Amino acid sequence: MSKISWWRTSFGPEEVERLKSSVSLEHISEGVVTREFEEAFAQLLGVPYAVATPSGSAALLLSLMALGIGPGDEVIVPDRTWIATAHAVLMTGATVILADVRPDIPVMDVSKLAPKITNRTKAIIPVHLNGRGTEMAEIQSLTLGQDIAIIEDACQAMCSRNLTGFLGTQSKAGCFSLSVSKLISTGQGGMVVTRDEEFYRRLKLTKNHGVVDVFTDTWNQMGFNFKYTDLLASFGLVQMSRIPERIEHMKNIYSRYKECLEDIPFVQLIPVDLTVGELPLYAEVRCNQRDRVVSFLNQRGIQVRPVPPNIDISPYISHGGRDNFPNSERFSRESFYLPSGPAQPLGNIEFVIQNLKEFHPAP
Ligand SMILES: *Cc1c(COP(=O)(O)O)cnc(C)c1O
Repeated sequence: MSKISWWRTSFGPEEVERLKSSVSLEHISEGVVTREFEEAFAQLLGVPYAVATPSGSAALLLSLMALGIGPGDEVIVPDRTWIATAHAVLMTGATVILADVRPDIPVMDVSKLAPKITNRTKAIIPVHLNGRGTEMAEIQSLTLGQDIAIIEDACQAMCSRNLTGFLGTQSKAGCFSLSVSKLISTGQGGMVVTRDEEFYRRLKLTKNHGVVDVFTDTWNQMGFNFKYTDLLASFGLVQMSRIPERIEHMKNIYSRYKECLEDIPFVQLIPVDLTVGELPLYAEVRCNQRDRVVSFLNQRGIQVRPVPPNIDISPYISHGGRDNFPNSERFSRESFYLPSGPAQPLGNIEFVIQNLKEFHPAP
């Protein structure tokens, strides 16, 4: 057992109380509490519409389905993300087109995007990894006048901003996750936000099997059951009240690592730009002796984990050659997460730093 885990979040008696009241009021499945949670979520991000889903993965899939994306269509996804982004595309029957990330930060390299766009491209999914904004204005100008939807995977970017505003609110659909290792959690859960009323209606229909009349159960389009539950929404409403203190805590963790890692040249913090409003979810670092450092810290009771592999290793996703993603491959080899999270004590950060200082890099 590690003494310090890579991620720590929290919930308290307030969540339990709200959950209890939901049960006594028989607010079990999706209903009034889910509406309240959606409204609070939309209001927080300054958008008119939010739609709750069972997970962030389901939020992505629902958005793609509501856009009518399917076999024969191409969807561009960065090679560096959690595999959920690519799997959501594959679930619709569409083809995943992988794009490399920037050399300095692991977000889609928009300057290399143009050649990926074909007459089959129906959507682009920029992934704002660890709160880092993808260059949205550049993607918008690349797709200008074409029938290409932009869906933001903002699962790691709740409450994170670029100079325009909140990430996830600058395209057709922004997808968020409420799983455990995200800013707030309801165990599982997700949210799609949009400014487009017509698209909002499509999302609502699609998440309930296209049902237009719940009394007669008549439907008018293809859909699925992506409903949320009032039980989880009651939990989520309380979690939302914890956001301001969490934002402060995440920034403090990041700043402390930044300060200390300046004296530890073999480990570099992968930057997140606090000055524009980006919010680092994880303490993501890189080191050219990654695997040695990871096992060294793990042996000392500090759980650190490598970042997930690059998407192009999936044998069922064609990529036109592994050497097409040099930046993504490098992040995959070199980067890992140091302990962080909304309930990670700052003292643990000091302990991690102390131990890192005792690591002897190979010459
Ligand atoms: C967490 C995450 C998802 C999926 O969210 P789930 O709620 O776990 O389904 C998708 N994309 C990214 C980038 C994520 O970090």
